[in-house]
Amino acid sequence: MKRAGAHVSISGGVQNAPLNARQIGARAFAMFTKNQRQWHAKSYTEEQIEQFHANMEAGGFRPQDVLPHDSYLINLGNPDTEAREKSFDAFVDELRRCRQLGLVYLNFHPGSHLRKIDENTCLDLIADSLNRALEQTEGVMAVVENTAGQGSNLGYRFEHLAYLIERVEDKSRIGVCLDTCHTFTAGYDLRSRAAYEKTMREFEKIVGFSYLKGMHLNDSKVDLGSRVDRHESLGQGKLGIDPFRFIMQDERIDEIPLILETPNADRWPQEIALLYSFTGEAG
Ligand SMILES: [Zn+2]
Ligand SMILES: [Zn+2]
Repeated sequence: MKRAGAHVSISGGVQNAPLNARQIGARAFAMFTKNQRQWHAKSYTEEQIEQFHANMEAGGFRPQDVLPHDSYLINLGNPDTEAREKSFDAFVDELRRCRQLGLVYLNFHPGSHLRKIDENTCLDLIADSLNRALEQTEGVMAVVENTAGQGSNLGYRFEHLAYLIERVEDKSRIGVCLDTCHTFTAGYDLRSRAAYEKTMREFEKIVGFSYLKGMHLNDSKVDLGSRVDRHESLGQGKLGIDPFRFIMQDERIDEIPLILETPNADRWPQEIALLYSFTGEAG
């Protein structure tokens, strides 16, 4: 079964996320674990956690249907030690928040070298941060997302993801999230059946579908290989609608969260229904 949804709001508290997801006909969802623009946030209350569980059950969501996203402030590969430790502490806090909510994934962007160190040195710092963070926590898998490669962001090559996986000691706690917009603007085509299969074959060869724990379904405002990250509503951008049909009919992508991060939230119910229409499963 395919599980599509969107990155929903936590306005009023994380406990509202499952309700917001249910309202748009989602079978999966993403959310921030706290205000993503701030380093610190209050701990969850017991009441909030209970309400989150109740709302998960009411919406029919399982822990693996939720792909929480970490703060954009976090850079586990920051060349500056002090700044990297600040990110590390925030990342550990987010892993613990996921655990408190009974969730099993935390989606994150690999990190940026800020043009101060080379790519491999930065990837080594990220791997080290990950190993330490996983050692200090339990039960939650770190799910690394591929990026468009904008600025000095790493993760725009499948090889970057493989490099991190190779260096993470506990392989049972590292997974991958593929974002269609990022994949495309990083230079991997998805627009025709042949291009889609070629890109996915390369992903299988370099990373492996066994590590794929979620996807972000976004069209792109910008073209193949532009290394720019600008999401667009499905079918309205340079990708067009076909890649999303290929994904919804791809058995390798069953039972993982497929998350819209498209700009117009009003369209999410229609976009989700459209995605389900490709599978022949009723929405
Ligand atoms: Zn994404
Ligand atoms: Zn993006």
